[in-house]
Amino acid sequence: MMRAAAPKGVAVLGSTGSIGTTALRVLDRQRDRFRVNALTANSNGALLKEQARKFSPAFVGMVESQADADEAWKSGTEALIAAATRDDVDIVVNAIVGAAGLDATLAALQGGKRVALANKETLVIAGDLVRDACAKGFGEVVPVDSEHSAILQCITGHPTSQIRRVVLTASGGPFRDWTVERLTTATVDDALRHPTWRMGRKITIDSATLANKALEVIEAHFLFGLPYENIEVVVHPQSVVHSFVEFIDGSVVAQMSVPTMELPVLYALTHPERVADDGVPAFDPVRLSPMTYESVDHARFPALRLGIAAGVAGGAAPAVFNAANECAVAAFLAGKIGFADIPPAISSALDRLSDLPAGTREQLLDADAAARRHVREMFKC
Ligand code: NAD
Ligand code: MG
Repeated sequence: MMRAAAPKGVAVLGSTGSIGTTALRVLDRQRDRFRVNALTANSNGALLKEQARKFSPAFVGMVESQADADEAWKSGTEALIAAATRDDVDIVVNAIVGAAGLDATLAALQGGKRVALANKETLVIAGDLVRDACAKGFGEVVPVDSEHSAILQCITGHPTSQIRRVVLTASGGPFRDWTVERLTTATVDDALRHPTWRMGRKITIDSATLANKALEVIEAHFLFGLPYENIEVVVHPQSVVHSFVEFIDGSVVAQMSVPTMELPVLYALTHPERVADDGVPAFDPVRLSPMTYESVDHARFPALRLGIAAGVAGGAAPAVFNAANECAVAAFLAGKIGFADIPPAISSALDRLSDLPAGTREQLLDADAAARRHVREMFKC
């Protein structure tokens, strides 16, 4: 008689956030296959306690952080690394927001774990270091981001040499139809009203500026080893097609589903296998019609081009892009700057700081801190 395989141990970093809670819903349904052995969060202690009661993990970490410090990413890193490198953890779901997730990803990969990566900022800051950590420790990164999960689902079984081009879809965010003038009046509430996805505050603002799509282009470059000229973006307001992959014979494969993060989270846990799961709403092409596509208006959403240019420039530029954006978004959410101030803040930091040295983790994190300082000085906040 065949014995069922032992459940795989999972750590969820950022368990109280949007992706963290989504991951726990999926893991709750898949208890035969996965066991939650570690949880960390740095907000919503009551929810963390409730999660700990429900899943009884061996490790629970409430991570302190100082959101306004230049080196906010450093705080609480030890607890994240402790959770990510445990012997009873096979898969680390990194659902932390921002640069704070970097060291835990590197440590998990060096320890040979699978990282189910939602924390795209990690790859943007230090894509080469992540690649090196995978090679050194035999770990692997499997994307949670829906667009990259879609690409992975389309290309699995095909070498990169058979891919001609990928096209990431973007919902266009809440300001898809707004004029440049109107964008200068956008409030935090306006920006948080995303048309298709319910997500954490930072990524929701990134979706409104399209900085999120820039982060995703860089993420795709590092995940799939694709040159930037082969990664494109199209606006698809319904968020049903999550990406297209065009192969060298001209055939285009797309992955679709109703907009839910449960599917990419589940696939990141089970890739390349698929397992039965009844949590994803049924696909109804008629109800989901029409599906439409538009070009990006770069004049109204300059953050996308700024981020792609930073990716192409390489070196410290992607880390500077990410940190300047994180800092400007935090200032916008705190009511200190306007929505239209975000792209100029990124642009100014890139002009000044893109040439900083970027060969090591320390140098990249110095560039990260310099970009945050630059934005704070620019707006005296
Ligand atoms: P969120 O703000 O809802 O949750 C973030 C989680 O990380 C919380 O549990 C928080 O306590 C924890 N955290 C925040 N700062 C921390 C720090 N300094 N140290 C330790 N823990 C910290 O964010 P989210 O929307 O779940 O996004 C998480 C990541 O997933 C981001 O990188 C985002 O870009 C990516 N992502 C999110 C979605 C989505 O649907 N929400 C989709 C694709 C990708
Ligand atoms: Mg995405």
